[in-house]
Amino acid sequence: GGAADLQFRDPEVADELADDIAAQMERIDEPVEIMHVCGSHEQVIAKFGLRSMLPDALSVTMGPGCPVCVTNMPEVDEAVALAEAGKTVATYGDMFRVPGTVKSLADAKAEGASVEVVYSASEAVELAETNPDEDVVFFATGFETTAAPTAAVLQADPPENFSVLSAHKYVPPAMEVVAEMPETDVDAFLAAGHAATITGYGLFEEFVDEYDLPVVVGGFEPLDVLYGVRRILEFIEAGEGGLDNAYPRCVSREGNEAAMAAIDDVFTLTSGEWRGIAEIPDANFVLREAYADHSARAQFDIDAVDGAGDPLTEQCICGDIMAGTASPEGCELFGEECTPSNPVGACMVSDEGTCKIWHEYGGEP
Ligand code: SF4
Repeated sequence: GGAADLQFRDPEVADELADDIAAQMERIDEPVEIMHVCGSHEQVIAKFGLRSMLPDALSVTMGPGCPVCVTNMPEVDEAVALAEAGKTVATYGDMFRVPGTVKSLADAKAEGASVEVVYSASEAVELAETNPDEDVVFFATGFETTAAPTAAVLQADPPENFSVLSAHKYVPPAMEVVAEMPETDVDAFLAAGHAATITGYGLFEEFVDEYDLPVVVGGFEPLDVLYGVRRILEFIEAGEGGLDNAYPRCVSREGNEAAMAAIDDVFTLTSGEWRGIAEIPDANFVLREAYADHSARAQFDIDAVDGAGDPLTEQCICGDIMAGTASPEGCELFGEECTPSNPVGACMVSDEGTCKIWHEYGGEP
């Protein structure tokens, strides 16, 4: 709160930006679809009713920006299997209730397995230090913002009984896949500011060169989003692709080079399935061979869970929602069989999930 925030929430400035955007859209004179790639963007859009300030022809949809939501069921299954095999599984709170094929970590815990919610990678290491007789597996999820601290704890010589089950993900290849999907019609991307604080916005240069679309890095205050949208429409009006940073108070071209070096030292990228979306090349962070001593996959035989999944899961369209081809209201289960207290899909579990956010606001926010 306080003055620092107000500076980025001034309603008068917001109205001026909305007027600019309306004028731009009139000149562009055709529908524009902007995809943002971050749950925090969806939260601020919902909370401040930003969509209602935009012309109808301009849609801002959420893409694959919720790391919990894109964590694949077999990855959850691995964590559940480890918990059921007697390891202590430590994970972030919003992963706890995400359904696997048969159960979530919360279900496993209810049945007696040892599952601990932690707030950071270092808290998971502390858990291993204070419980030297247990194997503590950190089920690590998230984009670069959380991959960096996971890398840092692995570099800091953690105890022998500490290992990592990495489900960390890397967004740019997912943007490429979504941009290429024949059923999507994305004109531009509003890229996530906090991942970019780590990676730097220069990371998107290659994408822009290849796809010739506008990519603008945006922050998380209402005015940040509106500035970002206005900047994107400038590119579109000029008929150009291009890259810009609309969040310069936090993001630089190079990003946090030390954090990026740590990520690169610890992880390599491999192809993997993002839940419900697609197999995405080079978008999953896995531990390098040099860290095999702390790799849960290298250290333990992980017996995949067996059993039939919830038949309702088949109806979940979370993947289409994250690819920008459907909205939560297109899901028959939304708000009925699927609610935050009884989630069918991952998009209803995480605070960054579109379904959860929309549910909180009673429909399209
Ligand atoms: Fe999946 Fe539930 Fe969202 Fe439907 S409302 S898409 S079941 S998470």
